[in-house]
Amino acid sequence: MKKIQLIQTGGTIAMHLGNGKPELDINRFTSLLHHEIPELSTIAEISTCQIFFEDSSDLTPDHWIRLAQHINDHYESFDGFVILHGTDTMAYTASALSFCLSNIGKPILFTGSQVPMSNIRSDAHRNVINAVELATYPICDVGICFNDKLYRGNRTSKMSIGDFDAFASPNFPELADIGIDITLKHSYSIPFDDLHCNPVFDDSLHVVKLYPGLHPRMLDCLDLQQTKAVIFEAFGSGNFPIKGNNSILPFMESCKANNCQVIITSQAPYDSVNLTLYKSGREAKRIGACSACEMTMEATITKTMHLLGCSLSDEEFEYQFEQNIAGERSG
Ligand code: ASP
Repeated sequence: MKKIQLIQTGGTIAMHLGNGKPELDINRFTSLLHHEIPELSTIAEISTCQIFFEDSSDLTPDHWIRLAQHINDHYESFDGFVILHGTDTMAYTASALSFCLSNIGKPILFTGSQVPMSNIRSDAHRNVINAVELATYPICDVGICFNDKLYRGNRTSKMSIGDFDAFASPNFPELADIGIDITLKHSYSIPFDDLHCNPVFDDSLHVVKLYPGLHPRMLDCLDLQQTKAVIFEAFGSGNFPIKGNNSILPFMESCKANNCQVIITSQAPYDSVNLTLYKSGREAKRIGACSACEMTMEATITKTMHLLGCSLSDEEFEYQFEQNIAGERSG
C-alpha cells in the first residue's frame, strides 16, 4: 500500500461552527480527521502531521518556505503528499511550491473545502478522498484537487466564494477525469535528478491594478528605491493608457530607471498577454517590460517573488520570467 502524508495547515476544512461562525480548532479537527473518513485507510497508509494551523489569508512566504522544507525533509518517506489548506490562498501556496521545488517525482496535492468538515453538508470528504486516491497515482506535479477536478496548481485560481466548484484553470486542461473511475489526462516522466528545494522569496514588489481614471500621480507614493518589481494588471492583451497626462508609460520608465522590473499581466483570465498587438504593449516591450503571457495572477506574483529571491541579474530575471520553469506558462 502507498504511503501518503496528510499535512494539515488550517482553512475552512478544519473549522467548526462555534456560535454559528467558522472557527479554527486544532484538537477538534485532528480527532475529526481520524474518525470521520475511515475509508482513507483502505486507499493508502496515511500519516498526518501539522505544520501550521491558519486561515489561509494569514499565510505569508514564510509559511510557503516551511511547507516546502517539510516536504523536502520527508520526501523519501512517502509516495505522495496531500496538503489540507484554506481555499482563499491555496492557488498562491501551490504556485509558490511549484517554483521552489524542482524535479518533482511524486504527487503534491492541495485540497480543502468550502464547508467545514464538521458540517454534514461538507464537501471535505469527497475532496480529501479524491486527493488521497490521486496521491497514489504517478503524478509528478503540484496539483489542486477540488470538486472532482484535478488542476495543475500554478494554473489555478479561486473563482467562486459560494459554490462547491471553487477553482478553475483558465488556460490549461484538467490533469485527470474524476468520475466513477479516475483517468489521468496528463502523462509524466519521472525526473532523473533528486528533488531540489530552493525556498527563497523576496516580497519587494507591488501589484498595480489599472482602471479607467487611474492617474499616474497616485503611483508617486510607491517607493521605487525599496521595490524590485511592479506587476501591472493591465487590460485585455496587456494594454494600458499611453495618452497625455494619463499615460502610465513614464511611471514604467521610472521603474526601469530604478532597476525595478516591470511585468505586464492581464485582468482577463483567459488567453495570453501579447505585447506586440497594440501600441501600449509595444512601448512596454521597448522599455524592457516582461510579459506574464497566460500565467495566473497567483503564478505571476509567486514566480516574481521566487526569482527576486534568487538574486539574479536583471537580464537573467527577465529571461527566467519569460521561460516556462514549472509548467506555469506555455513558453
Ligand atoms: N478563509 C478560509 C481560508 O482560506 C476559506 C476556505 O478555506 O475556504 O482559510
